[in-house]
Amino acid sequence: MSNINIWTLWKDEKVNDEEVKLLKRPADEVPVPFDEEGKRDIKILVNAFVEMDDALGLAAPQIGISKRMVVFRKRNLEEKSRIQNEKDYDVLINPRITQNRGEKEKMTEGCLSCPEINIEVERFSEIKVKAYDIHGNKINKRYTGFLARVVQHELDHLDGKLIVDHEGTLYYPKEKQDFFERLFNK
Ligand SMILES: [Zn+2]
Repeated sequence: MSNINIWTLWKDEKVNDEEVKLLKRPADEVPVPFDEEGKRDIKILVNAFVEMDDALGLAAPQIGISKRMVVFRKRNLEEKSRIQNEKDYDVLINPRITQNRGEKEKMTEGCLSCPEINIEVERFSEIKVKAYDIHGNKINKRYTGFLARVVQHELDHLDGKLIVDHEGTLYYPKEKQDFFERLFNK
């Protein structure tokens, strides 16, 4: 376990009002070319992600930075082995999905900011994205399959959208049924 402080909507059957506010707000664009603050925030995000060994991806709002930047694994998604170098992940700054393709597929997702629950989420199986890379270069990317799902999940965070905002079937631990039923008005 790492000591990265992940912002969450709730913890131990208590709603985190302050963290909810930031997680649910649309994040700000990063000025390009990157200024010192932008460069510093990118470094903080990437370092936090690399230090974690249990995450597929991380969006800046999840560590309390309300800026449009995400990082995610692009290989070894199944094993979640330790991140070795920068070939293992992509960083997208000010990303924008320019194309959704393929059939929508349903799959159960979890999120570090929504502890203890899983929700079935529909996602496109292929997306195209325009963004800036870690060096401030314009890039065009195409993601397919499970990786496309991970990227859509992370990009949702930048619009203040979390898995709880999707409509699918919700799964939570039975012993916390009261809390989660109250939370989701079931
Ligand atoms: Zn998430």
